[in-house]
Amino acid sequence: GLAARLQDTLTKIRGKGKVSEQDIKEMMREVRLALLEADVNFKVVKQFIANVKEKALGQEVMKSLTPGQQVIKVVNEELTALMGAEQSKIAVAQKPPTVVMMVGLQGAGKTTTTAKLANHLRKKHNRKPLLVACDVYRPAAIQQLETLGKQLNMPVFSKGTDANPVDIAKEAVAAAKAEHHDYVLIDTAGRLHVDETLMAELQDMKAAVTPDEILLVVDSMTGQDAVNVAESFNNQLDVTGAVLTKLDGDTRGGAAISIKAVTNTPIKFAGMGEKIDQLEPFHPDRMASRILGMGDVLSLIEKAQANVDEEKAKELEKKLRNMDFTFDDFLEQLDQVKSMGPLEDLLGMMPGMNKAKGMKNLKVDEKQLTRVEAIVKSMTPLEKRDPSVINGSRRKRIAKGSGTTIQDVNRLLKQFEDMKKMMKQMTAMQGGKGKKRGKG
Ligand code: GDP
Ligand code: MG
Repeated sequence: GLAARLQDTLTKIRGKGKVSEQDIKEMMREVRLALLEADVNFKVVKQFIANVKEKALGQEVMKSLTPGQQVIKVVNEELTALMGAEQSKIAVAQKPPTVVMMVGLQGAGKTTTTAKLANHLRKKHNRKPLLVACDVYRPAAIQQLETLGKQLNMPVFSKGTDANPVDIAKEAVAAAKAEHHDYVLIDTAGRLHVDETLMAELQDMKAAVTPDEILLVVDSMTGQDAVNVAESFNNQLDVTGAVLTKLDGDTRGGAAISIKAVTNTPIKFAGMGEKIDQLEPFHPDRMASRILGMGDVLSLIEKAQANVDEEKAKELEKKLRNMDFTFDDFLEQLDQVKSMGPLEDLLGMMPGMNKAKGMKNLKVDEKQLTRVEAIVKSMTPLEKRDPSVINGSRRKRIAKGSGTTIQDVNRLLKQFEDMKKMMKQMTAMQGGKGKKRGKG
């Protein structure tokens, strides 16, 4: 699977100080496959990969992230941006009623979504919608909307199967005005495939009722075909937004990206089930992690970012530049790591670590952290600032004071020296560059 492949690449990159062009190339190959597997259109994928490569290469690696995580972060951000900002607003006409046409292929979820939207408008915005049954081709369709209307205790405007859909729509708008409905939600007919007769009818309807909003309803299971569907509907009708249905299923959701790329209109809502209240605002960020199949990694990254105090990071950096990083700072760092939650949870969220969690020898030793903390706390202020003054007898005392062994103390002192050396190299490397850091 994709997640596994990305994890392999991530593992390779983890631990490196910098992301090389080759690393990015490797990761991008996996991301590319992931997007194609999720049925994102290949042209869209190509453009996307080019964008990400450029962004990822130019970035400095944040202290709180590994280079691999940082690349994933960029991928996620770009993917989110590609789907647009969260935008679950429905147009409001200056003069009511606001007219909304629901369009899309047969079975996409138009009728269901019409009812869901009516419910949403009433519940969240205190509106009074009129539902309109314009799918006259299937007798059951009118009945379906009427049933939903009853369930919602909302009126449904219908004229049976002999009436002309364009006329029905026109009459419905007039009726809505007379009865002071502020929204008119028109459920239209669909076809199994895009066809000219249907498009012509929808165009006539559009001309007759000048809708404020034309929502394209798309089944998220639609794969590569979503591009064609979105393109046809948009070319003929200039849709103003989309609703992605059946996201409660196991779709990877590549359709979301195609729709946005092709129509350049926001995906406003997501259908999350068959029930009337299962309509949610569309969250581009959640969709991005779904497509990448890396929700856990992303939440780990978020957590790590949220926990790095910018001010402290700056202070630390200054100290590093002057090379007076002390064991006190070290303790503070430990606290920050701890504030992210149990280490085991954090590691559990990392790719590849889920499986590792079950293996005893790879289990995170929280006791080790506590030991380290105890050792540092047993040092004098001077020793914390300059551990080189800690001689043999002091090592013994510190071990005793912290309930550890002299080997534990030696190991920590060695690690601290190594860390300092590494940091020195890092600061030397960053020395010339500007100090952009943080938000990325
Ligand atoms: P229409 O032909 O476009 O009007 O589609 P319908 O509204 O009749 O929906 C077709 C089928 O998809 C019905 O069985 C709906 O219950 C189902 N459906 C619609 N939206 C969703 C959704 O968000 N999740 C799930 N699981 N099913 C949905
Ligand atoms: Mg229908």
